[in-house]
Amino acid sequence: MDLNSVYTELIMEHNKNSRNKHSLEGADLSEHGHNPSCGDDITLELKFDEDIISDAAFTGSGCAISQASTSIMIDLIKGKSIEEALELVETFIAMIKKDIKDPQELRKLKDAMALKNISNMPARVKCAVLSWYTLKEALNERN
Ligand SMILES: [Zn+2]
Repeated sequence: MDLNSVYTELIMEHNKNSRNKHSLEGADLSEHGHNPSCGDDITLELKFDEDIISDAAFTGSGCAISQASTSIMIDLIKGKSIEEALELVETFIAMIKKDIKDPQELRKLKDAMALKNISNMPARVKCAVLSWYTLKEALNERN
């Protein structure tokens, strides 16, 4: 099985029919993220139950990578605590920067591992990390 094509499919799927792309009624927090180098523009909306992210969704427009990365991230962080989500953000950014030497560490990123090869495409790195930085900003506001 060719893992790369599986990953590409996953990105295309999240880009085309993202169940996470809608506005979130009664959101507790909304954070806007913009990547001028590509034109990606997202608004991330979050709901909290104490310190747990109980629901999340996004709206916006941009390239397939930015949209898929946002959708995959939302799948990953729903139901996680703020602390756990921040740790996942750090792991994802470290993966894209190629700062992670132990591949076992990447396993907690689940589907987001599909974006690992973006680290070899410098022009697309900002597209992939946009939503993660946006989430980090939102969570730091909450803390
Ligand atoms: Zn982009």
